[in-house]
Amino acid sequence: MSSLLPLAEALARVLALVCPVSETIDVPLLDALGRVLAKDVVSSLDVPPLDNSAMDGYALRACESGQPLPVSQRIPAGALGEALAQGTAARIFTGAPVPEGADAVVMQENCTESCGKVTVSGAVDVGQNIRPRGQDIAAGETVLSRGRVLRPQDMGLLASVGLSSVSVYRPLRVAVLSTGDELVEPGSGEPSKGAIYNSNRYTLAGLLRALNLEFVDCGIVADTPEATAEALLDAAARADCVITTGGVSVGEEDHVRNQVERLGRLDLWKLAIKPGKPLAFGSIGDTPFIGLPGNPTSVFVTFCLVARPFLLKLQGVAESEPLRLQARADFSVSRPGTRQDYLRVTLENTAQGLLASRYTNQSSGVLSSVSHSNALAIIPIGATLERGDTVEVMLLDLTVR
Ligand code: AMP
Ligand code: MG
Repeated sequence: MSSLLPLAEALARVLALVCPVSETIDVPLLDALGRVLAKDVVSSLDVPPLDNSAMDGYALRACESGQPLPVSQRIPAGALGEALAQGTAARIFTGAPVPEGADAVVMQENCTESCGKVTVSGAVDVGQNIRPRGQDIAAGETVLSRGRVLRPQDMGLLASVGLSSVSVYRPLRVAVLSTGDELVEPGSGEPSKGAIYNSNRYTLAGLLRALNLEFVDCGIVADTPEATAEALLDAAARADCVITTGGVSVGEEDHVRNQVERLGRLDLWKLAIKPGKPLAFGSIGDTPFIGLPGNPTSVFVTFCLVARPFLLKLQGVAESEPLRLQARADFSVSRPGTRQDYLRVTLENTAQGLLASRYTNQSSGVLSSVSHSNALAIIPIGATLERGDTVEVMLLDLTVR
């Protein structure tokens, strides 16, 4: 058991080796979703650019609001009014600049206008319904920092300071190789006896695309040393990182390990996690290599726990730690484990907060456990759990926040 490496240690070793991509490209802001910002964005202007009205109503001096005031001007959004004459009010609309001299806006629902004069009901405070210049962003402020994965609201924020394009890191190319003589591709007819469909390729294609990484499809490689070496070299030449599934155990049919060692460098660990068989990490020439286990659920979990943070750092992402939440367990764990267990669970909202229900079959070959779950419940080494206890969970929506 002493040979099992804690996840944190494996991760620290893997992340220490990352040399993030440095090439940048300019993309139109409309195409920037999910891209990683390559430079800090500093605003050259105040947002909003002027004090403006938060309401449709009347702009006036608060101290003059007790008397009927002649309406001296009309200021719609997009227009610039004139300085407000003493003892008058301006008809004003949402977003319109507040005229010089006015210090409050009264919403129209609290005003009556007749014969060109407006009467206000109720007290008026200085500053009410005025959105001050720069209240969102001040000129010189860093709007978003390098290393941020751009979300829809970030695209809006960058537009609000006038950007129409943005400098991002070029997207990483990640090659995926599936090893195994038993594998056939869906769509290639009825599988012969003993064959299974290659599911890992699709899981990984989805995981990579969800992270906005380019999926370089290197297909299935046969379980021979020659085919494995050729496929690894080809994959390494085509991508910034190579990911394989299967073939990293100690069986005679597991050739990935030997071939990576021959072509580059290899570290092979037994991680203290479940599911998750030996995980290989190394390089082929200069290209980083991650060898995931073959079992479909182990692929998913080890990708999320090790490959994802590695790839995001390689892509220049500053912060990629998934949010962890607390839930109430709708299950118990009676036997303490020797590995940290990542149980596939479904979280639902209840009146008592989040409830985590465990998928019945937690075998690492049962991919349904991942498909029919929305989170992983983390059961620390040696822990037991009573139904109703609090358990830490990690959402399977691994989009970067
Ligand atoms: P291995 O590590 O190559 O011994 O594979 C472990 C298990 O995962 C075996 O049952 C394989 O059949 C299965 N497996 C490996 N690769 C895939 C794949 N691409 N799709 C589905 N199952 C796989
Ligand atoms: Mg195999």
